[in-house]
Amino acid sequence: MEQQKIDSPVIFDDTTQAFAHLSDNDLRSNYWIFRLMNSSFLTGLSTSLAELAIKIGFPVSWAAKPTVFRVFCGGETIDESLEVVNKLGENKVGAILDYSVEGQDSESEFAKTEKELIEIVSIAKDNPHIPVTCMKISGIASNRLLERLSSGVDLTDPERVLSGVLHKRFERICQANFDAGVPVYVDAEESWIQPAIDRLVESMMSKFNKDKAIVFQTLQMFRHDRLAYYRDLIEKARIGGFKVGMKIVRGAYLDKENERAEEKGYSSPIQPSKVATDEAYNAALKLSIDNLDWVEFCAGTHNEYSSQYLAFLMNEKGLQNDHPNIYFSQLYGMSDYMSFNLAAAGYNVSKYLPYGPVKFTLPYLIRRAKENTAIAGQMGKEFSMILKEQSRRKS
Ligand SMILES: Cc1cc2nc3c(=O)[nH]c(=O)nc-3n(C[C@H](O)[C@H](O)[C@H](O)COP(=O)(O)OP(=O)(O)OC[C@H]3O[C@@H](n4cnc5c(N)ncnc54)[C@H](O)[C@@H]3O)c2cc1C
Repeated sequence: MEQQKIDSPVIFDDTTQAFAHLSDNDLRSNYWIFRLMNSSFLTGLSTSLAELAIKIGFPVSWAAKPTVFRVFCGGETIDESLEVVNKLGENKVGAILDYSVEGQDSESEFAKTEKELIEIVSIAKDNPHIPVTCMKISGIASNRLLERLSSGVDLTDPERVLSGVLHKRFERICQANFDAGVPVYVDAEESWIQPAIDRLVESMMSKFNKDKAIVFQTLQMFRHDRLAYYRDLIEKARIGGFKVGMKIVRGAYLDKENERAEEKGYSSPIQPSKVATDEAYNAALKLSIDNLDWVEFCAGTHNEYSSQYLAFLMNEKGLQNDHPNIYFSQLYGMSDYMSFNLAAAGYNVSKYLPYGPVKFTLPYLIRRAKENTAIAGQMGKEFSMILKEQSRRKS
């Protein structure tokens, strides 16, 4: 189906706005990094080397920190990231501090993550540039447990205990967000652990979202069952008298989902095509706009059409650009030309700002480098926008 033609009230071509937060030096160094990522050969080589280095424990942080880490992450600690938080804030773009330590697997590490997440909430409480926090349930529980919980099998006694620990841990985090009046976006993860996440998030929504949305779920629209799930959830919220908080994304880990389905012989939960995902994504935006009495939501996307479509829907309904129920969000270092132009036009915008020790953020950085690689010789959008801004500044 053709995308609906729209007259969007927002355009993204203004590179003056898009790069106002970068000095000439920053822009020059971003130029080199995006130029490197624009070469599929060099990106392939460097990401393969980085993956190998992680596997054999070879230190690569010294190379990553002044380069890709600087472009895509705020710093190694919350304190180190505050400089970027303030820079974004000066341009009316909020920061969502994302503690990006992946692959923890012990109760002591989960307890450490809980402490870190509550620390972020206490900072956000007094910092208007940090409007929201975010978290992954897999950061406070093992994938093994989440998969067992999701599959509906009978739990062993130790698993039952761990499930109770997880519930309490998550509840303490949501309580901290509730007390601070700062919402939390709970990320969506792989489909085989998502049922457990859905149940946990729904239970906290019904507890903490009575007056406004504090606990946000995430919908991955590359899954073909999510629009129906969203409709049902809105209905449950109406009946239960709580607000739905929803971050709407297309979904990461596409290949992983399809490969697992094929390997295990079940039908893939993923939409049949990119077009189907796009249609479902835009339908979820429309559903949100049509239910604003019950829904607060965030469009987490770098897709220009979807962002313009949301601005169009808001305009069509006569909603103010900074409507408190509606947020746009992108990842730090990606689609700045969208984030800053949206913010300049008065929309609520925030950026996920990953931080953490460099070596733990490497898997995240490798994913970003791969995403920014040129497709079939096409110049990456980020790179072409940097070139445009450089020539504007020279003239
Ligand atoms: C603020 C923010 C928060 C995020 N939080 C999460 C999260 O909690 N969980 C999560 O999983 N991801 C999350 N993401 C990542 C997101 O899901 C996407 O992977 C990423 O944003 C790319 O999608 P897009 O809408 O930006 O752009 P686009 O480039 O328009 O879309 C790319 C996406 O389309 C889908 N797609 C591509 N090819 C196909 C195909 N053949 N068939 C079906 N679908 C296809 C995939 O989802 C792919 O990622 C987040 C992104 C942002 C910006």
